[in-house]
Amino acid sequence: ASLFGAIDMAPRDPILGITEAFNADTNPAKINLGVGVYYDDNGKVPLLQCVQKAEAKLMEQLSPRTYLPIEGLAAYDKAVQELVFGADSAVIQEKRAVTVQAIGGTGALKIGADFLKRFSPDSQVFISDPSWENHRALFESAGFIVNNYTYYDPATHGVNFEGMLASLRKMDAGSIVVLHACCHNPTGADLTQEQWGQVIEAVQQGGLIPFLDMAYQGFGAGIAEDGAVVRRFVDAGGPLLVSNSFSKSFSLYGERVGALSVVASSGEEAARLLSQLKRVVRTNYSNPPLHGGKVVATVLSTPELRQLWEEELAGMRVRIKQMREELVEKLAAKAPGHDFAFVREQVGMFSYSGLTKEQVGKLRDESIYAVDTGRICVAALNSKNIDLVVDAIAKVL
Ligand code: PMP
Repeated sequence: ASLFGAIDMAPRDPILGITEAFNADTNPAKINLGVGVYYDDNGKVPLLQCVQKAEAKLMEQLSPRTYLPIEGLAAYDKAVQELVFGADSAVIQEKRAVTVQAIGGTGALKIGADFLKRFSPDSQVFISDPSWENHRALFESAGFIVNNYTYYDPATHGVNFEGMLASLRKMDAGSIVVLHACCHNPTGADLTQEQWGQVIEAVQQGGLIPFLDMAYQGFGAGIAEDGAVVRRFVDAGGPLLVSNSFSKSFSLYGERVGALSVVASSGEEAARLLSQLKRVVRTNYSNPPLHGGKVVATVLSTPELRQLWEEELAGMRVRIKQMREELVEKLAAKAPGHDFAFVREQVGMFSYSGLTKEQVGKLRDESIYAVDTGRICVAALNSKNIDLVVDAIAKVL
């Protein structure tokens, strides 16, 4: 028998499966709301001006493609730290924060997971119910038992906050809690600032290990506003891990740019911690890729480019909000018996629309593709396709 003869077929990725079905659809008016990507009003993935300018600048100073250090480009790690913690953060001044460049947000989560498995092997991991579809598999593949904590309440289309607090209070000390810093994927339902305060208190009192996943900084209320939760965790003290990604905020999906930051209790502890994070990286892929990190570092550290980025990011954020508004208004007109006002309260690229699996199936007959859970990507709506989407939704309700 062949060595691989008994291998089972792995289950298909549910979201990539939607894209495959979409690609195979010959209807020219087809619309894919199943994606996790920001599209502009022309339905295109933007190439940001700030990125083009940084790339032009890098082309002027051609340099050999040497290896980066294991922890990544120093200028990148520094810029990320300042973005994530705030430039004036005490953890930066006291050298208590360490940041390693990572292969996207996914790579950052994986480095963090492998690191935690080495130094807190008996911890269990808790992710929100529901969560980004890769969280569970990623932490399980690092060797952890992964559980859910209560999060989304379909009845209110918001967070079941009492349930969430109850879940947090039941966790054993040393449990790892993965929290979406902003723009919850897949639901779009975020905590209020007041609720974050209570979560931080529960994490502190329970001796839990918070792991903030920040894949959409700047898509919620703003760069500083979305990052505020990181600073609040820092101020509360205790260990903290933060994964962040520039896939969305720089529209640099395929360049795989992200980072993992970890806060230690002293500079000396941080140095030991960094040495161990480097070991995780070294034994996985040795060192990160060069281009994306250089582009992001150039933009973040060049004042004009940084300003341009902030404007372009604001443009994406505002357009998503506009699409939410229009979706709510147009659905109110076309489907008056149904209340979609909650879509306006949701934050970030996604919305749990409340559409059932059956309704999503019927939408597909109209060549409109969404996730079976009812998740739609609001950033895939635009001025040209929104009426088609609204008409189709009104029809399947
Ligand atoms: N975390 C969350 C919550 C995400 O939605 C995603 C995907 N966009 C990631 C992490 C992974 O980010 P990346 O594509 O940069 O690996």
